[in-house]
Amino acid sequence: GQAEGHGELTDGFHLVIDALKLNGINTIYGVPGIPITDLGRLAQAEGMRVISFRHEQNAGNAAAIAGFLTKKPGICLTVSAPGFLNGLTALANATTNCFPMILISGSSEREIVDLQQGDYEEMDQLAIAKPLCKAAFRVLHAADIGIGVARAIRAAVSGRPGGVYLDLPAKLFSQVMDAEAGAKSLVKVIDPAPAQLPAPAAVQRALGLLKGAKRPLIILGKGAAYAQADDAIRALVERSGIPYVPMSMAKGLLPDTHPLSAGAARSLVLKDADVVLLVGARLNWLLSHGKGKTWGEPGSKKFIQIDIEPREMDSNVEIAAPLVGDIGSCVSALLDGMGENWPAPPSDWTATIAERKEANLSKMAAKLRKNTAPMDFHSALGALRTVIKERPDAILVNEGANTLDLARSVIDMYQPRKRLDVGTWGVMGIGMGFAIAAAIETGKPVLAVEGDSAFGFSGMEIETICRYNLPVCVVIFNNNGIYRGTDTDPTGRDPGTTVFVKDSRYDRMMEAFGGVGVHATTPDELSRAVNEAMDSGRPTLINAVIDPQAGTESGNIGSLNPQSSVRKK
Ligand code: ADP
Ligand code: MG
Repeated sequence: GQAEGHGELTDGFHLVIDALKLNGINTIYGVPGIPITDLGRLAQAEGMRVISFRHEQNAGNAAAIAGFLTKKPGICLTVSAPGFLNGLTALANATTNCFPMILISGSSEREIVDLQQGDYEEMDQLAIAKPLCKAAFRVLHAADIGIGVARAIRAAVSGRPGGVYLDLPAKLFSQVMDAEAGAKSLVKVIDPAPAQLPAPAAVQRALGLLKGAKRPLIILGKGAAYAQADDAIRALVERSGIPYVPMSMAKGLLPDTHPLSAGAARSLVLKDADVVLLVGARLNWLLSHGKGKTWGEPGSKKFIQIDIEPREMDSNVEIAAPLVGDIGSCVSALLDGMGENWPAPPSDWTATIAERKEANLSKMAAKLRKNTAPMDFHSALGALRTVIKERPDAILVNEGANTLDLARSVIDMYQPRKRLDVGTWGVMGIGMGFAIAAAIETGKPVLAVEGDSAFGFSGMEIETICRYNLPVCVVIFNNNGIYRGTDTDPTGRDPGTTVFVKDSRYDRMMEAFGGVGVHATTPDELSRAVNEAMDSGRPTLINAVIDPQAGTESGNIGSLNPQSSVRKK
């Protein structure tokens, strides 16, 4: 407002919005409430896209995947205490996955919180967030909002990306200051994620190892997908002639049908390779920590690792050639060093891989062809595989146990950053948040392939999908439960612990919100319904009936589920 004899005024609300917009951040994912209701309203009025969810964890997951897709921090906005804690789960997950995200939460009055005098939603949010994210900041004065937002952006995207918490106490929003001074206090972050060039000696060391390899292998991880160095990565694979395996969210960096893809011979190449080049992939549980049976004879391999985080090196096994820097710069340096006439790997290695690939692919093709009712996982996935083949720019979101494990190997991807899934934690609940942000950020059609259990963690957001009329098609693999739909209570009192209501009609939930609901019992019905949804762009949910007997414990990772050996008869 303008008071007589004074200049224009601004306030905390507007400074937060202006600071985000100044840095090219134009979308907020959140849930409104005290004390940030007006912040959302004003942001929308100022032209920002404000996507209101039904639960903060889903808004947080949306922000996290927006960060992965765009290399800009995704913003999640929540209320204090419980809303903050709900969003914090997503912030921790984003940090674990190296996705840039900023969780902005309103908080209660410092004076009351610090004396623990029992404020509305009292909680020391900054202290709680700190150990679960990359950095955490609090802004107490309107004049510091510009710096606070700048620090949050830089912390989220520089080096190894991750989650940042920004604590904004309620009182901050209504603080006023001179508009001109306010505008001057804002910071447009220059070069928020500076290139980090690898040392020349480190590049030479890596090339030396690669050159001597008899059975080289490249592993592409989601860091490689995040880096958006797609052309350089493709050139590295093609010019070196080295077979590669994509981790699940790196699928499509090169098309899965590429002749050098060794995805269908994964266990063979991990076991037999002698030199392994990791590009933005960690040797964590998803790669059996780089040791054990999966990796063949102990000591039989040497690792080269490209990563922006120096401390990632030697995290699980010795890294013979660490290459620390950003993936774009590191891959370019390798390409420069390789020149145009790099010798192809020995042909017996590539021939062995090709043979195993062909055998595995034809084994799978037989399973995919079956046209059964009820469907099993393979026959249903066979239909979806064709949909993605015909629509390679669609985005696939995928979670579940069997639904995840089998879709990962059955559905080929053709373009970078089109497959979004449960990531490093193997977490359930990312589905609708990821699907919504993927649609908002890219404008492309989204196919979310969900186990019936996984869907339950974020299912209420189908209302959000309908409200914003997003081109999202959710397919629920409904086998009546977790892993399988057949467990019973041995005492006969209750349903088994892993089953849901039999023959649920999830499609009718979608109809309640004005979306399209379809009940599909055969692969033909399923592919017809998905194609219709993708053509129309209308929010759609397909209840795909899967045989309750189909499925195995925890999909492919049943070994992580401890079992009692003293189970009573
Ligand atoms: P995946 O699960 O696909 O194997 P991870 O999440 O384990 O992938 O590994 C991703 C790695 O990529 C992380 O160690 C992270 O530090 C690294 N990373 C992310 N972005 C970049 C980048 N721009 N340059 C280099 N490394 C990066
Ligand atoms: Mg299930």
